[in-house]
Amino acid sequence: GLLLAIETSCDETSAAVVRGGREVLSNIVSSQIETHRRFGGVVPEIASRKHVESITMIVQEALTEAGVSRSDIDAVAVTQGPGLIGALLVGVVAAKALALALDVPLIGTHHIAGHIYANRLVGDIVYPALALVVSGGHTELVLLPEEGVFQIIGRTRDDAVGEAYDKVARALSFPYPGGPHVDKLARQSDEEIVLPRAWLEDGSYDFSFSGLKSAVLAEINRTKMKGLDPDFAALARGFQNSVVDVVTTKAMKAAAEFGARQLLLCGGVAANRGIRERLAALCEEAGLPMLVPPLSLCSDNAAMIGAAADLKWRRGQFSSLDLAASAQVSLEEW
Ligand code: ATP
Ligand code: MG
Ligand code: FE
Repeated sequence: GLLLAIETSCDETSAAVVRGGREVLSNIVSSQIETHRRFGGVVPEIASRKHVESITMIVQEALTEAGVSRSDIDAVAVTQGPGLIGALLVGVVAAKALALALDVPLIGTHHIAGHIYANRLVGDIVYPALALVVSGGHTELVLLPEEGVFQIIGRTRDDAVGEAYDKVARALSFPYPGGPHVDKLARQSDEEIVLPRAWLEDGSYDFSFSGLKSAVLAEINRTKMKGLDPDFAALARGFQNSVVDVVTTKAMKAAAEFGARQLLLCGGVAANRGIRERLAALCEEAGLPMLVPPLSLCSDNAAMIGAAADLKWRRGQFSSLDLAASAQVSLEEW
């Protein structure tokens, strides 16, 4: 069937038409980054208003680009959370209105289930699978023993990876969101200022990045106090190598311990070249198949919501019209 999916959890207004959960007929993403940049981060109230302004147009564009009309749509999917509550509400209300008007089922979907199942759009998922979720608000190792079952075996205790990238980027004078700039700079440097790795207790799959971020800031201050210019590229490289070492090592260890037959990399920070390349190399070495979405499906988009919602649809897991947007929602209620 044809699914219309809507995603408005943060600062991207997105709508997609997905057929059979795997075939993306359209995936329109309107980013508000230019609006939020001068504030150095996403301003929730502004994000909500922008979603209201563009949602109708974005949905229409998704239908037009897919070459379908409203009456062709068989179900409507929407991100119900987690995310900014005011932003989520816009998508949820729009999806309800469409489902009601078209008299088709409504499928509320978890944003992180969307990031994980973005991988359905690139290949067949094999279970048990282990997902390494790295995004602006999340850093998690999620075991999927079977389809639709999510067990979080490790999570960040402080900053998410993307958040740490953006904070370090700001210290290195890059505009928001600076993650991609730090990635690029890290790969341009031959020098590296080696920074600590937060492995945490033996056997823990949790993460911590705030100490690493502080180490970058401290190094910049120390250098400036000596009247010298900090080597930003060497710092970016040191920061990225620490992040890459920790997330990929923990992911590989968890994959082995839990007998994963596939590794799924996902989330906005899955765009990071350092993480992609190292994880691909380690998986190759271990003979573990790995999936990672193309960059356009790593950052927030509605097609990934459609990919996850399709699985719920097949299982008859629909939402009622009193579906509530929720800033925090557990992955168990995907
Ligand atoms: P969540 O999915 O947890 O709710 P989010 O949706 O805001 O958070 P995403 O859109 O998935 O996050 O990812 C955005 C983050 O990814 C930003 O922090 C951005 O800096 C980071 N990012 C994007 N590309 C790269 C890159 N190449 N290297 C490092 N970080 C990156
Ligand atoms: Mg975003
Ligand atoms: Fe996201």
